[in-house]
Amino acid sequence: MEFAEFADHVAAIESLDGDIERCERVADLLDVASGDLGTVVRLLLGRVFPAHQSTTLDIGPRRCYEALARAAGHNVDGDDVEARVASEGDVGRVAEQLDLGGQQGLGAFGAGDREALSVATVADRLETLAKTEGEGSEQTKGDILFDLFNRTDPLEARYLARLVLEEMRIGVGEGTIRDATASAFDVPVEAIESALQVSNDYGLVAETARDDGVDALTEVSLAVGRPVQAMLAQTGAVGDAIESWGEVVVERKYDGARVQAHYDGDSVRLYSRNMEDVTAPLPEVVAGVEASLDVPAILDGEVVAVDDGGPLPFQEVLRRFRRKHDIARARENVEVRFHAFDCLHADGTDLLSQSLVDRHGRLTELVDAGDHVDTADPVVSDDPDEVAELEAEALEAGHEGIMLKNPESAYTPGKRGQNWLKRKPDVETLDCVVTGAEWGEGRRASLLGSFELSVRDGDGYATVGKVATGITDEELDRLTALLEEKIRAEDGAEVTIEPGVVFEVGYEEIQESTTYSSGYALRFPRFLGVREDKDPGDADPLDRLESLADTQ
Ligand code: AMP
Repeated sequence: MEFAEFADHVAAIESLDGDIERCERVADLLDVASGDLGTVVRLLLGRVFPAHQSTTLDIGPRRCYEALARAAGHNVDGDDVEARVASEGDVGRVAEQLDLGGQQGLGAFGAGDREALSVATVADRLETLAKTEGEGSEQTKGDILFDLFNRTDPLEARYLARLVLEEMRIGVGEGTIRDATASAFDVPVEAIESALQVSNDYGLVAETARDDGVDALTEVSLAVGRPVQAMLAQTGAVGDAIESWGEVVVERKYDGARVQAHYDGDSVRLYSRNMEDVTAPLPEVVAGVEASLDVPAILDGEVVAVDDGGPLPFQEVLRRFRRKHDIARARENVEVRFHAFDCLHADGTDLLSQSLVDRHGRLTELVDAGDHVDTADPVVSDDPDEVAELEAEALEAGHEGIMLKNPESAYTPGKRGQNWLKRKPDVETLDCVVTGAEWGEGRRASLLGSFELSVRDGDGYATVGKVATGITDEELDRLTALLEEKIRAEDGAEVTIEPGVVFEVGYEEIQESTTYSSGYALRFPRFLGVREDKDPGDADPLDRLESLADTQ
């Protein structure tokens, strides 16, 4: 396809307002892209390379302005172009108005002949530019850009300039490409979606959809060495998670940087959460993963900086990522560990659709923990108290907290779904007065169990919930002794307690509720301790509860 034809299509797409119209127009373009389909898709997304490749154009605005100025002729220099872009706000419009292409015979690559550009040539020349290194590379890159700009007509210049600076801004995002591919080649969007999740290559997926249809899309598989988008987490509550899944997988939440390790049976490559290649900055992780695996695999995990065994803040890991040179010296200062918590591929088999519990099983089978590498040891639980203990342990050990995961869930790349939850940190704690309690049952019949919590309301108190979670057996003994003498009335197992003891409680959320006299209820309250230093008069007032509820 000629680049001019591509530019015409893109101009038409850019001029449309509605998403549906734009999607239809993109589908028309995909339909006529023939041999250039993969490239056209990438260019529409403003990319020359598939997202999973670490190669980038990396052309600074200044270099682009200089090349534009050169193609525009003697009366224009880089500063002029820069000033115009600053006032116009769009390098594309400026390039379009520059009257490029008059510079006969000045280019290093046969410029001046104004031979029509094709989509393939543009992609090919930009690829060469991206790979140019070493002595004289600055000059060569400038020449390549000049030659391309020198061969453009105004509309081509508009889109070439935007492409070069990776700012297409034509209102076509990944969603548009996905829908347009489905519509152009008559395949279900879901099939496109799942092929994209594993391959991360919109060009490849469009070609597969067109040439081989829906069955081939479902067979697109992971490839060792081609990073997959990381599965993401949402915030959520322990109680909700247990309620909806029955059981939760609890893992430590490491405070580091997400890393995907790809071992092809011979060597390891590491990718960051943005799918950048971070193999070079982490040599000890590479060596560790190589030593820990016998068969090809893709592992997902977190790289953490450690110091005398304890985790260091996450900035330490980032510092290492940014360090391009002098890795050896950085190694002396910061020790890193890779905590693998998922396994996406093992020995020729993709595991994405298997359950988390099965993937964990495979992970521990596969990875021989050793220097710089270990596997998360998840606990499966249906008990909020146990989860609270695990969280306390994780925090105590210097981790960020815990992750809650659905034991039955598949690995969904790039999705911030409901199956991985980071536990919401307790917002602010509340100091509540204990105004009631309930005797326990069976073995615990002589102990008070659930405690009614109240906030101050004028001269009295208003109830806001009951807490039974987060209290150890010893604490229960102590609390019973403390509160027993304050019992004012008993009705069956329920007792009324003279206000005198203040509990500090954590919670997931404050909800409006008619169950309690304050008009609010604490969701999943947890006992954090007795505020020995506080009298009931120092407990939190209803006002504070209201304002906390408002600001959630
Ligand atoms: P956040 O960055 O706060 O959205 O939390 C999600 C991030 O926590 C993930 O992208 C990982 O980098 C990190 N993380 C640490 N430990 C785990 C774990 N056990 N499972 C999943 N993600 C984890």
